[in-house]
Amino acid sequence: MMTHAAYDCDVLVIGGGIVGLSTAYALTRTAPGTRVTVLEKEWGPARHQTGRNSGVIHSGIYYAPGSLKARYAVRGAAELVDFCVEHGIDHAVTGKLIVATGRAELPRLHALVQRGRAHGLPVRELGPAQITEYEPHVRGLAAIRVGTTGVCDFTAVAVRFASEVTVSGGQIRYGAEVVAVDRRPWGVAVRTADGQVVRARVLVNCAGLHSDRVALLAGDEPGARIVPFRGEYYELARPELVRGLVYPVPDPAFPFLGVHLTRGVDGSVHVGPNAVPALAREGYDRTVVRPGELAATLAWPGSWRIARRHWRYGAGEMHRSLSKSAFTRAVRRLLPEVTEADLRPSPAGVRAQAVLRDGTLVDDFLIRDAPHTVHVLNAPSPAATASLPIGREVARRALLRARATGWTPPAVESGHCV
Ligand SMILES: Cc1cc2nc3c(=O)[nH]c(=O)nc-3n(C[C@H](O)[C@H](O)[C@H](O)COP(=O)(O)OP(=O)(O)OC[C@H]3O[C@@H](n4cnc5c(N)ncnc54)[C@H](O)[C@@H]3O)c2cc1C
Repeated sequence: MMTHAAYDCDVLVIGGGIVGLSTAYALTRTAPGTRVTVLEKEWGPARHQTGRNSGVIHSGIYYAPGSLKARYAVRGAAELVDFCVEHGIDHAVTGKLIVATGRAELPRLHALVQRGRAHGLPVRELGPAQITEYEPHVRGLAAIRVGTTGVCDFTAVAVRFASEVTVSGGQIRYGAEVVAVDRRPWGVAVRTADGQVVRARVLVNCAGLHSDRVALLAGDEPGARIVPFRGEYYELARPELVRGLVYPVPDPAFPFLGVHLTRGVDGSVHVGPNAVPALAREGYDRTVVRPGELAATLAWPGSWRIARRHWRYGAGEMHRSLSKSAFTRAVRRLLPEVTEADLRPSPAGVRAQAVLRDGTLVDDFLIRDAPHTVHVLNAPSPAATASLPIGREVARRALLRARATGWTPPAVESGHCV
């Protein structure tokens, strides 16, 4: 039996991205006085998916009714805007257009209208002339405008979660890569690459691109593996061509939204991301190859099954990745004036996409818990938008698991331990 003092913390969070930090933030809010430690392998927060994305506050229009994505994105978008207002973080609610450029896309666009309305979102249908009222340089057969979409600086949000956690007494250790997890009847002991040991009642795994590996370290079979998909961007040299956010109609066979045009909080316009297999989990460039990681991806039967099922789409994405002229031609469907010279390479991101053994790309957020552990196994887009509700749900599960060790939340007065 461990005494309370023998634990280094009550809840240990692995991962200082927006999901891990939001979880730590929720713990300090819902159960003040809980001893929370976050271990992050990089020397600062938000160095991976959280700091390398499109920066879009998604409305929730795309997601199946009843899914966690739909529930958390609709609620999370509104909460995130409030959070940005409260903490003075750059953001803007601009609305966005989803534009059909081919007849075959019209039924899918119409289905999105129905879905958006079912979610209670402000959706307006537009003809070609109305599209140009919003976006004078964009062309399409029809479009919809969703009023609640916006942009924000997700890195700044993550940094703010981190500072709120430390102000509330939580600890965040950077440069602390978890390399081993020892599960005991009383909880977990993790070891970092530099030999520190941290003992906790509950481990929360928010390791993003490495979440399946951390689950395996803890002895929990996640049932899925992370297959990394790089998303490459260009920056538009003539940002005046795009006023806000312009998306194509997504292909329902994929969880990715297709190359879009995004005017960020700083006024720059990014074009992307595509979706190409990455040869390393942090393979931000096509030259980055990690043979061990690649071998593990190829050893997962689901990887071959997605390749067989989606080879045609994948080949198109690879071609547009390797050929700037092919990429430009694809963008011209939405923005006919764009030229190759207008597109300047910009840093890429890598998505942590969970894939089941049978090749299914896990569509919804996936959170699993077991004694002493809670694992966030799939938190792709719109998890940054939905970070506040996701963090609360993960924190709720972590507190239940902590209570199972005989722990009760400390009594607090005015947010301080008494
Ligand atoms: C190209 C792209 C575009 C996107 N666009 C959007 C968008 O517009 N809107 C939106 O809402 N979402 C978007 N997303 C999704 C969003 O970025 C992610 O859902 C979100 O950032 C996930 O956060 P996370 O904390 O789970 O992961 P991450 O931000 O990847 O954080 C995981 C952290 O865990 C750390 N870690 C891993 N292993 C260990 C270990 N062993 N020990 C210690 N630390 C470890 C990593 O260093 C990392 O910092 C996009 C994603 C990508 C890649």
